[in-house]
Amino acid sequence: MNSGARLVLLGRQGAGKGTQCVRLSRHFVVPHISTGDMLRAAVREGTELGLMAKAVIDAGNLVGDDIMIGLVAERIQADDARDRGYILDGFPRTVAQAVSLDEITASHPLDVVVDLVVPRDLVLSRLSARRVCRDCGANFQATGTEPSPWTCENCGGDVVQRDDDTPDAINKRLDLYETQTQPLIDFYGESGRLAQIDGVGSPDEVFARLTKAVEQRL
Ligand code: ADP
Repeated sequence: MNSGARLVLLGRQGAGKGTQCVRLSRHFVVPHISTGDMLRAAVREGTELGLMAKAVIDAGNLVGDDIMIGLVAERIQADDARDRGYILDGFPRTVAQAVSLDEITASHPLDVVVDLVVPRDLVLSRLSARRVCRDCGANFQATGTEPSPWTCENCGGDVVQRDDDTPDAINKRLDLYETQTQPLIDFYGESGRLAQIDGVGSPDEVFARLTKAVEQRL
């Protein structure tokens, strides 16, 4: 088995982070930590965090930095992530989160931050066709020919459109990505930790580019 990795994946909504993180997680044998999935699980379970986060998420806004930093700090200190590493998907999303992540990981720093680059017009069409499994989080693209209800081929869960995949919320999230998350490209670029990868192509092609770029830096 390889020796694990500590990775962050940046990229616009719909760039393919979820799909690639599942593959990277199997390849490097490390947990895929998606803050979006963690928040959606909290919403489903009706926890205090979930009740607070639901309206924020559905409106396409960002959950507060302090809450997100606490959530991730706890998760990456769990045994699996501490020993072998992790792939962070959806975090950090602001410079304040990135600064905190450096503090939290000071003793075991990130290996590389990957920016999965896909133009905005392409992600818009991917997002409007995006459907997700409510149970396992797998992503699918709707073609209009699917059965209704649609059942997940991996786990048998319901495949649905996310409540925040409305045109308004999608545009809001893409705008927030430009203003809040794009500055992280400079933040990581200036410290020599960034790999920019072309995210246009088949999932296999993109995965090959990603693993090559990451393995060069491990
Ligand atoms: P997307 O990349 O399509 O926006 P995610 O599943 O990554 O979807 O996140 C869904 C929502 O969860 C975000 O729109 C935001 O409201 C919240 N969220 C996830 N990660 C963070 C984060 N690091 N900071 C603040 N809010 C977050």
